[in-house]
Amino acid sequence: KQITIAIDGYSSTGKSTLAKRLASALNYVYVDTGAMYRAVTLFALNNNYLGAKEDIPSFVKQLPNIKLTFVPNETSGLSEMYLNGQNVEKEIRTMKVSEQVSKIATIAEVRSKLVEMQQQMGEEKGIVMDGRDIGTVVFPNAELKIFMTASPETRAARRYKELLERGEEVTFEEVLNNVQKRDRIDSTREISPLKKAKDAIEFDNSDMGVEEQFERIYNFTQR
Ligand code: C5P
Repeated sequence: KQITIAIDGYSSTGKSTLAKRLASALNYVYVDTGAMYRAVTLFALNNNYLGAKEDIPSFVKQLPNIKLTFVPNETSGLSEMYLNGQNVEKEIRTMKVSEQVSKIATIAEVRSKLVEMQQQMGEEKGIVMDGRDIGTVVFPNAELKIFMTASPETRAARRYKELLERGEEVTFEEVLNNVQKRDRIDSTREISPLKKAKDAIEFDNSDMGVEEQFERIYNFTQR
């Protein structure tokens, strides 16, 4: 029987790594909702609604003109984020976007647009979705909910390594600050704040490799 798996948690806790691993083992669809918030943020940056001439009300009016799609990569098969027909998979992971995304994610109109899209994608079972509000708001009835945590240093170290591998010039301090700042904004915002759903399994993976995490969570899907 196919189920819905909701994975939430703090920034850089390895949600997407675990989610992808589960999706491939179960032959489920994986949806990275952070990529959607990041793509909307990139749109705001590219069209100068953020920064010196910040104008959130005008940005909100543009929301109907933002078209988001996931397209599988021809070689890897992994889905990549497209914004108005353009592949933005790499650009949405840069620090420039990370610095603004949590602000954009506080906007009610942004959240309702993206939550609606996510719920549509989940109409068919057999989905693993990761984010901040999947078990609480998007799929409150998900059969399996995981809430991932890890120490801020572990998380920043993981993100730092990823950014260096992608050639971004960034210091560990900057990454640690960004991770902590996003967690603060995400957990204290008014709409759909990041929190553990009552029926979610809390999972601290600070000292755990990917395979061990996978095996533990996979067992829950087989019950
Ligand atoms: O998962 P990722 O780190 O890529 O998410 C980037 C940001 O998008 C988060 O820090 C949060 O502000 C926002 N987000 C959200 N709700 C989700 C997924 C992401 O608010 N479901």
